[in-house]
Amino acid sequence: MYRYELHLHTSETSACGHVPAVEQIRTYHRLGYDGVCVTDHLHNVYLKTLGADDWRACMDAYLTGYRLAKAEGERLGMDVILGAELRFPENNSDYLVYGIDEQWLYGHPWITSLDHKAFFDRFGDEVLIIHAHPYRNCDLVFWDSVHGMEIANANPRHDSRNELALAYYRAHPGMYATAGSDAHRIGDEGRAALLSKTRIPDSYRLKEVITARDYRLACEPFANIILESEAIRNV
Ligand SMILES: [Zn+2]
Ligand SMILES: [Zn+2]
Repeated sequence: MYRYELHLHTSETSACGHVPAVEQIRTYHRLGYDGVCVTDHLHNVYLKTLGADDWRACMDAYLTGYRLAKAEGERLGMDVILGAELRFPENNSDYLVYGIDEQWLYGHPWITSLDHKAFFDRFGDEVLIIHAHPYRNCDLVFWDSVHGMEIANANPRHDSRNELALAYYRAHPGMYATAGSDAHRIGDEGRAALLSKTRIPDSYRLKEVITARDYRLACEPFANIILESEAIRNV
């Protein structure tokens, strides 16, 4: 099985990220991962810090971490996949978005000014929207406007209340389940993974693997939760 990280930040792009992109990739390579999906934070508070009103300039800056990771991945033979962690002005919920490329980001200015419902209505047929750590900041899960949820977020500095996410997922088995390390700092790496029978060279393929339910999840710190999950048992 090939091993992929689905939730990772770089210090070049994410203000809360402490590890440069190249270092993240080298660490994951050393840990035996075949690839990572870079999901840097994308929201208006971050974009404001760039001091640019021009969406193109914003995306040039936003993609810095991903591009550095990608180049290092190519050097080491790892798949580096583009994702994003979106937040809308309405609240502090975060959404992992898969099934995109650079052109998609450049081509959809100020998606960050929508709300979760408008985003889902407009792009739900196109991209995969996963509610990140759905119980970390709130009790609300917008089940009608996400495709799935991160049932295990392994970040050690947050209580993501994964058991509630798993319970919700069990009650809504039509959803897709993911797991991620949410890697921001040294020591966060490699605590969760998606395991795939095939290589996943890009974000479109990642979306296909998840929607085909052709994967398993691993998350050692929450192994007792995850191992019971149907996302695991069925494959
Ligand atoms: Zn963060
Ligand atoms: Zn994150």
